[in-house]
Amino acid sequence: MSDAVSRPLPRPSEHSREFWAATAEGRFVLQTCRSCTETIFYPRVNCPSCGSTELTSTDASGRGIVHTYTIARRPTHRAFADAGPYVIAIVELAEGPHVTTNIVDCEPDDVSVGMPVELTFADEVDGIALPLFRPSSSPP
Ligand SMILES: [Zn+2]
Repeated sequence: MSDAVSRPLPRPSEHSREFWAATAEGRFVLQTCRSCTETIFYPRVNCPSCGSTELTSTDASGRGIVHTYTIARRPTHRAFADAGPYVIAIVELAEGPHVTTNIVDCEPDDVSVGMPVELTFADEVDGIALPLFRPSSSPP
């Protein structure tokens, strides 16, 4: 990048700190409700289905499909001024939750709805490793 504008990064909260610590280790964790077995993403205090606070964290498979996407042909932030077209997508994880992310390691025009994808990570910056997805040769 020609200027010093950095990609905006999440600021871990009390409730998301465990999630971001896991991504820094190359893991993507999901919460599961002990009361109703709902699989939950993003990290929360209460289950969105039943309100229980009895939540556990487990590693996700890292596999999913492209639920929907768009190609950003104009930068959505100054940090992406030199990025060229890139894919902003919602990935449906094999475990069910949807994650807003980028699809990388392929040409934007090669992305399609239903395409199998797998987890990868952006290079860690300030202790944050953003979870991204890339095409996968096998379905989730
Ligand atoms: Zn629940």
